[in-house]
Amino acid sequence: MERSFPPTMFPSFFDFLTSLEAQKENSFDAKLQLNDIRILDKIPCANGASCEKPGLQVCSSCKLVSYCSKTCQLKHWVLHKIDCKSKMMDSKWLPGYIQNFRQPSFLTSSENSLDDRRQEYFGEKHQRRFGMSMSIWGNIPAFDVICLSRNEGSQKSVSGQDFSIAFVASGDIRQLVRTVNELPKDYTGTLTILLNDGQPYVTVRNLVLLIILMTLEDSKVATEIALHIWFSAFLPSSYLHTLQSIFYPILPTIMQPFFTLWLGKRGNVKLCGALSSQSQMLLAVLTKFPKFSFKAARAEIQRVFSHPERVDLWDRFYSNTEPAHRVAFEQFRGFPVVLPFGAPRGHIDTPNPFLFSVKGEWLQNDGANPLESWDTLEAIQTGKK
Ligand SMILES: [Zn+2]
Ligand SMILES: [Zn+2]
Repeated sequence: MERSFPPTMFPSFFDFLTSLEAQKENSFDAKLQLNDIRILDKIPCANGASCEKPGLQVCSSCKLVSYCSKTCQLKHWVLHKIDCKSKMMDSKWLPGYIQNFRQPSFLTSSENSLDDRRQEYFGEKHQRRFGMSMSIWGNIPAFDVICLSRNEGSQKSVSGQDFSIAFVASGDIRQLVRTVNELPKDYTGTLTILLNDGQPYVTVRNLVLLIILMTLEDSKVATEIALHIWFSAFLPSSYLHTLQSIFYPILPTIMQPFFTLWLGKRGNVKLCGALSSQSQMLLAVLTKFPKFSFKAARAEIQRVFSHPERVDLWDRFYSNTEPAHRVAFEQFRGFPVVLPFGAPRGHIDTPNPFLFSVKGEWLQNDGANPLESWDTLEAIQTGKK
């Protein structure tokens, strides 16, 4: 069952058919494209344009970037000093409305009129100016809903027990992934999971993430592609080529009213599904390269994330944020890609179709935060492994 959806976001049936045709012509060899995927399993040297070594020494002033050597740090200083010496790095930094002794815009009439509030409530105002207010990234923390090790799992006899879980209207697959990953290695039972959601963009994205994670042999490559499809506004084109390589052979199956796919490294995962016609059309379109340009998508990001009317709201947010985190958020707002601060971005040249409408509008609002609901300390611990 799916909710109604603004019709402008959907392509016509003609687009749907031509997209399938285009995929037929541009089918790719997945193995060939996988060579182009860079795995960032170490913090890179921030002098990225001319150095591919890992960053070993952190900038002692901002702690945002690392370098392989003093030489690289000196070479990169001309660029890095813009961030390292940014006004926001000063612990005494204050919001502009305090520095200038004026009322912040979120308290003045234009932002606070009854009409504006009504428009905001019904989502009209956000759609016009600050993104389209859809919730794509999810906000449910990852937790293991079976937690066998603390419950029945303590007895060896239950490692073959079957379980059934329903994630109803669950746009977030964090708990699903964690629950599966935390099953004991000797688990031999059958785990049946139901997952659904009312929002076609979310349903299709989750299907795509699960198929990527269960199809690609190299789990580092699979995680890299899935992470960026989920959270980054822009992608290297090789990620979409890989996606097409995976999906082109299975699209005819997924387009059936009810489909079954056998996936997993040992072919032991049975994925059954039924997509609505809206989701089927969306899947066909999202696995293609977007029709709007990288330049147009960057302009849309600039329009939404740097809207002049939101300066005071951002300043209020930054007033409760660590200095270096303000600078990191500024970088994210300019180019919303989930990468370490100093990581190279030059190879990222394609809008992520999963985060824009087919016309190129940013689907979420400007306050969407990819860090929401992740356990930061846990993420840092995982990064150290
Ligand atoms: Zn620095
Ligand atoms: Zn270096």
